[in-house]
Order: sequence, then C-alpha cells, then structure tokens
Amino acid sequence: MENDFPAAALARQFPLLVARPELAYLDSAATSQLHESVIERIVRFYREDNATVHRSSCPMGSEATVAYAAARKFVAQYVNAADATEIVFVRSTTEAINLVANSWGRTILRPGDEVLLTAMEHHSNILPWQDIAKRQGAGLRLCAITAAGEIDRDDFLQKLTERTKMVAIGHVSNVLGTVNPLDELIPQARRVGAAIFVDGAQRVASGPIDVQRLGCDFYALSGHKAFAPMGIGVLYGRCPWLKTLPPYQLGGGMVDRVSMDCSTFREPPEKWEAGTPNVAGALALRSALEFLRSIDWKSYDHHCASIRSRMDDAVRSLPGVRILGSPEKKTAIFSFVSDRVHAHDLATALSTKGICVRAGHHCAQPLHAAYGVPASCRASFSLYNAEEDCDRLIDGIRWALDYF
Ligand code: PMP
Repeated sequence: MENDFPAAALARQFPLLVARPELAYLDSAATSQLHESVIERIVRFYREDNATVHRSSCPMGSEATVAYAAARKFVAQYVNAADATEIVFVRSTTEAINLVANSWGRTILRPGDEVLLTAMEHHSNILPWQDIAKRQGAGLRLCAITAAGEIDRDDFLQKLTERTKMVAIGHVSNVLGTVNPLDELIPQARRVGAAIFVDGAQRVASGPIDVQRLGCDFYALSGHKAFAPMGIGVLYGRCPWLKTLPPYQLGGGMVDRVSMDCSTFREPPEKWEAGTPNVAGALALRSALEFLRSIDWKSYDHHCASIRSRMDDAVRSLPGVRILGSPEKKTAIFSFVSDRVHAHDLATALSTKGICVRAGHHCAQPLHAAYGVPASCRASFSLYNAEEDCDRLIDGIRWALDYF
C-alpha cells in the first residue's frame, strides 16, 4: 500500500527519539514523547515567565494569566467547543472522569438509574462510575463487544433504556485501537435522554476532535498522550452542565465570596479549577495542539492502514500469535498474544532489542476477560513511527519466539 505520510521527518522533531535512535518506540498509547516545541515552551515558561495566574501583580503574573486564557481559547477552538468557558484544565483524563462522575453523579443519579459503559473501557472510565453508581443506589451496565473488537450494537440498543442516565464511552480503545462509531451511538443515547461522556485519551493523537459535531456532553483528554507533558489534561463540558453542577474540588481561585457560614463560587471555568493550576502544562498543551493542527489526518489514516496491513500479514506468518480484535475502523494500536510465550516475557525480550512495547492488561481487565486472556503485549504506533518500526517489531517477535 502506497503511503507518503512523513513519519520519519516528524520523528526528527522529537528530541527523545533523536537522542535514542536505537529505539523503536511503540508505547505511545501509554505515554507519547514530547514534541520539541512543547519542551521549548516549558523551558521558556520556567526560565523567563514563571508566575501563577489570577493572583500575581508582577509583570509575569499578568502575562501568565493572558497566556493561560489564550491556551484555553486555543483548546476550545481545537476541539470546536462553543466557548472557551467550556474548557476546564485538569490533571488528566482520569481526573476529568472523576470530576464528572462525582459532580454529575451526586446531582443526577438516583436509585434505579443506570450508567452504561462498554466492555472495552479503560479502568479510569469504569471505576469512578462504579463507585458513584454504588453510592447513589444506581446500576452499572456493560455493553458487550464482538470478537472483532467492536461495540455490539444490538447489545448497546438493548441496554440503552429510559433508565440510562449516562453513557460513558471511549472514543478509541487503548487495547484494540477500535475507533468507536460515536456518530451513530451518541444520537441513540440522546433519544433516551442520557448524558454522554466521551473518554478521548486515545483519540487526541490519532485524529481530529469536534465536540459539537459529536454532540457529547463531556469529553476528556490527557496531554501526555498527545506530545505534551504529564499532569495536564482537558475536560470539555457543555455550558449548562458546567454552570449548574456543584464544584468537584474547593479551594483558592474558584471562590467568589467566602464567609464562615456560606461561600459562593465563580463562574466556569474557574469554578472547576480550585488551587494553583498547572500553567506551564496548559501552555505546553497548546504547543502540542499547534503541532497536531499541522497533521494531515487523511494521510495519517492511510499510514495507519499501511501499518495495519503490514502487521496483519506478518502476524499471520508467526505461529501461535494472534492480534486481539480486527475492527473495521482502527488506529495503529495492536495487542497480541502468543499461545506459548507470556506477554511479559515477550515484552522483556523485545526491550533487549530496543523495541519498546507494553505488556499486561493495559488497565482494561474486562476487555481481556472478554477475550479469555489475562494479559497481552501491546505495540502502539504514533505519528513518528514508520514502517521500519513495524518490521523491527515483527523481526523481534520472530526472534523472541525462537528464543523461548
Ligand atoms: N482512557 C484511556 C482510553 C486511556 O488509554 C488512558 C491512559 N492509558 C486513560 C483513560 C487514563 O489516562 P490518564 O492516565 O492520562 O489519566
């Protein structure tokens, strides 16, 4: 398959990959490497601009406040939110899910209500819902997936009832790479009046995001999955929710008036950002999204398809090895198992050859249970991985199988 995506040229924009040319870094679903513009932004902030926002009266303080607001506006435009006040800076996708599960759940969920998840969710998109459902006397339902690793649409429709108050669903599976058909599922969830939370942790580095077109109520992402640092993430929330739901955390920066018997809170987004925020992280995330804005996603889709056909063909020739799932629409994430060699042994052997993959359940135990395996080995390709990385992986697996 012909493909002219400039993966090798992009790799040269990532200092870690330049510093370690011996590596085939295939673990971007765990954390991606930082783009050079991101590192430069962080260094510049701490060397020249360090100040907190909304508080400091020194020149850097007002500059940081302006830059922080501009970063928020940039994120809003990037995900096509209707307004920058719908963008809350959080620590990560995990924090965003906990925020919504707690604040929304406490306010809306009642005994007999249900939250609908899917069997391919990351633990971060299961545990907060499980906890709040239990506390509110509500039920938790899990939509099945097919052997191909797609959402079982019949099961989804069957479990979606007027009791369903929330559908929380991943945009892209961190194990299978499945791109879920949100254009189809969200309108169905809307029809029963459910709110929709989308876990976009694995989407942000693999395709564009348009929250208004999706029609979701909430959307979460993590900077470190998209070439920005750890410790910064985004929660998009539709304006009526962010205005009316109670704050998740309380503290400085989010209050309007405080007295000892009653306090009032600021309007969104400040209402949702108690304490000193990660200013450098927000600015760095903006730099990462500026880089992502330059990506030709159509061309990247072809690149992923090319890697996929190379992987599929090669794995077919490896005895006893299979890739979990074969969804129609997927990114370049491949989780595979050998019927002879344990995933951890395989990953350890590959790492001796400089091939970085991850082994384990990848925080998706219900998904692994659905496939009847406790663990898998995951190779996750990103924008900076070329076909050669795929060939190295395959040669590495072949070598490891012979070795054990
Ligand atoms: N959801 C998915 C699909 C993920 O892949 C991850 C990270 N592996 C998370 C949620 C949690 O992201 P974070 O650890 O950045 O909060």
